[in-house]
Amino acid sequence: AEMFGQLTSGLEAAWNKLKGEEVLTKENIVEPMRDIRRALLEADVSLPVVRRFVQAVSDQAVGTGLIRGVRPDQQLVKIVNDELVKLMGGEVSELVFAKSKPTVILLAGLQGVGKTTVSAKLALYLKKQGKSCMLIAGDIYRPAAKPAIDQLVILGEHVGVPVYAAGTAIKPAEIARQGLQEARKKNVDVVIMDTAGRLQIDKAMMDELKEVKRVLNPTEVLLVVDAMTGQEAAALVTTFNVEIGITGAILTKLDGDSRGGAALSVKEGIGKPIKLVGRGERMEDLEPFYPDRMAGRILG
Ligand code: GDP
Repeated sequence: AEMFGQLTSGLEAAWNKLKGEEVLTKENIVEPMRDIRRALLEADVSLPVVRRFVQAVSDQAVGTGLIRGVRPDQQLVKIVNDELVKLMGGEVSELVFAKSKPTVILLAGLQGVGKTTVSAKLALYLKKQGKSCMLIAGDIYRPAAKPAIDQLVILGEHVGVPVYAAGTAIKPAEIARQGLQEARKKNVDVVIMDTAGRLQIDKAMMDELKEVKRVLNPTEVLLVVDAMTGQEAAALVTTFNVEIGITGAILTKLDGDSRGGAALSVKEGIGKPIKLVGRGERMEDLEPFYPDRMAGRILG
């Protein structure tokens, strides 16, 4: 199922109402704007985002006037497209690398969002760009049959990247310290640390992340967000940013049946961009987040 299928057809209803019109007016955009609003809300985009979006689009639509050779419905598509791109951050946001080795990337996020998977995917992604990587297994708590540490070791082997694991008996901040030391010894370009998530945001998780962050002094702190989070993504990103300070987000499970709300809600809250997206369970399924391509997919 196409992730934005419903949003795409919801927006189509808006353009269709302008067929036969000659110019965009205050009056004839009322119904289309209602359709756009409804489509975004149904896609699970947060209400404040929807409100601002609709306002920005209607302001521009009314101010556009007659453009020779361009139909009003096409004009509206163009305005919506540009606003969608803006909403998702405009340009693609590249990962930032430290001036001196190693660049440290800290991954945070709730349990089950795909953090461990993303750690290994990101290592492979960077390895393909010619960077040597090392992973640090800091998710020591997960109460599952297969602990995250073991899973990361297996994934690391799979992508051919060394994993620093120190068991589950020592604190993540200490694992971070040892791991970073090991990375310096190995002279790797990039260190990626996987951390423990909880089912919900809690103080213990944040305190632990703060400690790990202090030890690592990372260049990137990326919040891993499940696309299924929908509009809640805005609040999630804001909370993590207030608590630990993040540099961006990675949106996972874009191949699932989410409605698209998360992709459109992340940036609005605190202005931190989605940098990468995961769209599958294979290690190769990680790519940069391109706002313009994503807008293109939304508009069908
Ligand atoms: P963590 O608890 O955040 O470390 O989550 P995991 O990395 O263990 O992932 C939880 C589940 O989500 C696993 O079954 C992964 O295979 C799956 N998963 C992770 N990323 C993706 C993705 O982009 N698409 C799909 N379909 N599944 C994913």
